[in-house]
Amino acid sequence: MIHIKKHSNHDSYKDDSYSFNKSQPRKKNHKDYYMNSNLTNNHFRTVKAGTLNVCIIVLPGAKVDRNSTDNQSIVPNRVKRDIAAANKIWKQYEKNRLIQGVTFTITRSVVFLENISGIVSNAENFPIGGSSHLTMVQAMLKTGRKVCQNADVYVFYMNGNRFGPVNFDYSSTLAVTYNSFPLIIMTNASTDEYLLAHELGHFMFITNRFNETDDPEPFHELDGNHNRTPSNLMFPTPEFWPIVPEITSEQIHKALNSRVFYS
Ligand SMILES: [Zn+2]
Repeated sequence: MIHIKKHSNHDSYKDDSYSFNKSQPRKKNHKDYYMNSNLTNNHFRTVKAGTLNVCIIVLPGAKVDRNSTDNQSIVPNRVKRDIAAANKIWKQYEKNRLIQGVTFTITRSVVFLENISGIVSNAENFPIGGSSHLTMVQAMLKTGRKVCQNADVYVFYMNGNRFGPVNFDYSSTLAVTYNSFPLIIMTNASTDEYLLAHELGHFMFITNRFNETDDPEPFHELDGNHNRTPSNLMFPTPEFWPIVPEITSEQIHKALNSRVFYS
């Protein structure tokens, strides 16, 4: 974890007890291997465009800016904004021509008006660590699969102004992406429209098909999931972002190597 005093952060959730990286050792000297392979066949060629199917689940109390006339399957305004921001930032254009990029589509969006059995609706009460944590995550994934049959990732919007308790350094976690489950949790505090784009970035890096999960310019040797440039989308906190955060072509290229785009 990184320490950002008095400021909120939105970190990817690391729980080594069920990280898939454990069973799949990292490839060494991966760069050479990758380049040589490119010369001989197309198998390792990076796609120029990929589509990621997102399932949206809104739990009771989540502030998602619904119109009074919206039924439960209308995509709420906040979700529309978040997905639009992700679609805007994860693409690289040159002279109006798309060079490379990811398109995020909502396969289905459901607003739950009643609590779901086995799932806390307030993210502040989320059990952190231990078997109750895993039980909760599994209940959420089960709900997700019931709602969407063909989603790559499940995004839950939850009540509460942080995920879990306040951190020991008085920071709090606004949003979470799991390392070993296709699950993103957004809280009512994650109001910046680019926060979902950041979390989706984590998901695409975490699911790298070569298990090269670090950002191309890692924040810190202990935190390779984030980028070191304060104005960058993948910086650990949004507090230094300009109105539209920055992204590099290397990051988009890395995102396009998510195994989601090769199955
Ligand atoms: Zn993060």
